[in-house]
Amino acid sequence: MAQLPVVVIGAGPVGLAAAARLLERGLEPLVLEAGPAAGHAVAQWAHVRMFSPWSYNIDDAARRLLEPTGWIAPKASRAPTGGELLDQYIRPLAATPELAPRIRYGARVEGVARATRDKLRDDGRDEPFVVQYRAEGKRVSVSARAVIDASGTWFSPNPIGANGLPVDGEDTCARAIAYGIPDARGVDAPLYRGKTTLVVGSGHSAINALLDLVALRREDPGTRIIWGIRRADARRAMGGGAADALAERGALGTRLGAALASGDIELVTSFAVERLSRAGDAVAVDARTGGRPVRLSVDRIVVSTGLRPDLAPLRELRVALDPALECTPALAPLIDPNLHSCGTVRPHGARVLSHPEKDFYIAGMKSYGRAPTFLLATGHEQVRSIAAALVGDMEAADRIELNLPQTGVCSTDVREKSEAADAAASSACCGGPAPANVDACCVADVEAKVAGKAGCGCS
Ligand SMILES: Cc1cc2nc3c(=O)[nH]c(=O)nc-3n(C[C@H](O)[C@H](O)[C@H](O)COP(=O)(O)OP(=O)(O)OC[C@H]3O[C@@H](n4cnc5c(N)ncnc54)[C@H](O)[C@@H]3O)c2cc1C
Repeated sequence: MAQLPVVVIGAGPVGLAAAARLLERGLEPLVLEAGPAAGHAVAQWAHVRMFSPWSYNIDDAARRLLEPTGWIAPKASRAPTGGELLDQYIRPLAATPELAPRIRYGARVEGVARATRDKLRDDGRDEPFVVQYRAEGKRVSVSARAVIDASGTWFSPNPIGANGLPVDGEDTCARAIAYGIPDARGVDAPLYRGKTTLVVGSGHSAINALLDLVALRREDPGTRIIWGIRRADARRAMGGGAADALAERGALGTRLGAALASGDIELVTSFAVERLSRAGDAVAVDARTGGRPVRLSVDRIVVSTGLRPDLAPLRELRVALDPALECTPALAPLIDPNLHSCGTVRPHGARVLSHPEKDFYIAGMKSYGRAPTFLLATGHEQVRSIAAALVGDMEAADRIELNLPQTGVCSTDVREKSEAADAAASSACCGGPAPANVDACCVADVEAKVAGKAGCGCS
């Protein structure tokens, strides 16, 4: 067993950081990546500027692999685009002599199980894992002593339906739909310039898409932008503005507010799409706004309704997930968007991320399930802790080494104002209010209790 590798699923930034951390702990990583190169998901949003600066985007163990290669660290205070993250960090990291031989590309993981027992069997759950992947059309199996799933969520976007299901016609209109953030100012510009586009969603991806379309509209005023959101107003999407400790993120909301005020974006609130159908070259969108039926005629639709984890490969593992968020039950109260504004997320490690299936972890973007607030720095802290736990160093695994900026001001509606006030009130002890449905005095208290301790001692 000790000779077997730890399989890491995904060569995104967190998967690579996991591999770097495992090496430092004397463990052998094997990274399986579905795409043709490292950072395959980041490559899809290469044109988008990140809101966190380089200082939050580079893992320490990765830095220790990069520095001897002559790598020059990017300026810490600058926020890179996804493309810059790829060129200046992910690709050089994947090419280091330590990691390069330990990554297999074109290897899509399809299933993980214990070697000879399906998940029904109680015995043998300390057997090695078998990780099954598809490469060049063939099914390949590899044994592993532990598995870290860092496969992200980028390739499983939510559909347009407000209930989480695709609407009638979503498949047949697929050619007019982009999920995520199209490069509307770059290669995709011809599809959007001078056209009418409906953007659905209210997270950062939707805002990025909207702002790119606004820039296009400045070049061609015939470009029409309709923005459909489920909420009754757009205040939450504006975020914390100048009060957000991540300046680029705050600026997104500020620029969005300006675009709304100038009339470049037509906002439709309490919006739910019910059906799509082709109408000549256009798409007819049958929807409801505030309960009333409405029909829009658009050329393109951008669906930015969030991402969800692909759980199918984990079917044979004993995985425990929160029924709503699809992250571990211990993590859910820390990141639930129903309870928190977007910055009030605490660092956490192996204990919070553990499953009934020993030595199996989900890390990185996928660890947050459907919650939209994941930060790369959080993922680096996760894999540092997981690597420590895998060698039994629970003291290091439980230690919090990450210091994230306090950004609990990402929203402005009444409920969230009161949250911010609660956060301010409790920040004197451990920072951030405890979720309402948890018997704890603050977030650190929640974490302490999750870690099996009595509490943080501040109440
Ligand atoms: C547009 C956008 C902007 C963001 N901006 C920021 C920011 O400013 N700051 C910040 O901290 N975070 C940001 N994030 C969030 C997050 O940090 C990034 O999504 C980051 O890329 C997550 O890293 P990851 O390694 O967990 O997952 P990913 O980068 O998604 O990597 C997952 C990898 O797994 C591979 N994979 C998927 N399925 C399989 C499979 N079955 N088998 C094998 N391989 C598989 C994929 O091809 C991919 O290479 C942003 C996210 C998006 C989408």
